[in-house]
Amino acid sequence: MKFEEFNLNRQLLNAIEEAGYTEASPIQEQAIPLVDAGHDVLGIAQTGTGKTAAYVLPLLMKIKYAQGKHIRALILAPTRELVMQIDAAISELAKYTDIRHTAIYGGLGPKTQIENIQKGLDILVATPGRFMDIYLKGEIVVKELKTLVLDEADKMMDMGFMPQIRKILEVIPSKKRQNLLFSATFPEKVEKLSYEFLEFPLKVEV
Ligand code: AMP
Repeated sequence: MKFEEFNLNRQLLNAIEEAGYTEASPIQEQAIPLVDAGHDVLGIAQTGTGKTAAYVLPLLMKIKYAQGKHIRALILAPTRELVMQIDAAISELAKYTDIRHTAIYGGLGPKTQIENIQKGLDILVATPGRFMDIYLKGEIVVKELKTLVLDEADKMMDMGFMPQIRKILEVIPSKKRQNLLFSATFPEKVEKLSYEFLEFPLKVEV
């Protein structure tokens, strides 16, 4: 399936073309229309399947352009490497838009990360621990948050991030929020998390 068949704007199609993607991957073919229609989506897909673009592209359509100062989408991922990789994918796909995004993760001081947040942001990519640290300093305003993505949910659970994720779910607005959960595997604990986190989810699997 060609990317032109989705509801994607010219800025995104140009970036996709420059990235060298010619055909949508199976997870993209299934997930993009559902995420774009506003559903909560449970995606079972491993790294290498194109799962990042499967949620980033419809998310960029939803965000459309830079607006206000506070985050409208939050993407949580288990490791600094993955957070940086997701942020790099957003840089590539959003390069013809004015959408602002940054990555925050542990392993270094929060000063520069806080300064980046203070400049104004549309999308924040974060490890759960670092998100909570900076949130508790009062530096992340979540009242405009409309989309939450948990990427590699199975790994986040294995790494013991559930308490932080539960705290994050408690502090962010639940009304009119779209939730996306991606996981490489689908053990019972991820299924349970999906009941807790997703509302009337549609499942896509590759
Ligand atoms: P991911 O599974 O999201 O980690 O993506 C794996 C790699 O595939 C990344 O380097 C992407 O840039 C690339 N990619 C994603 N979607 C496509 C596509 N439709 N065609 C070719 N490459 C893609």
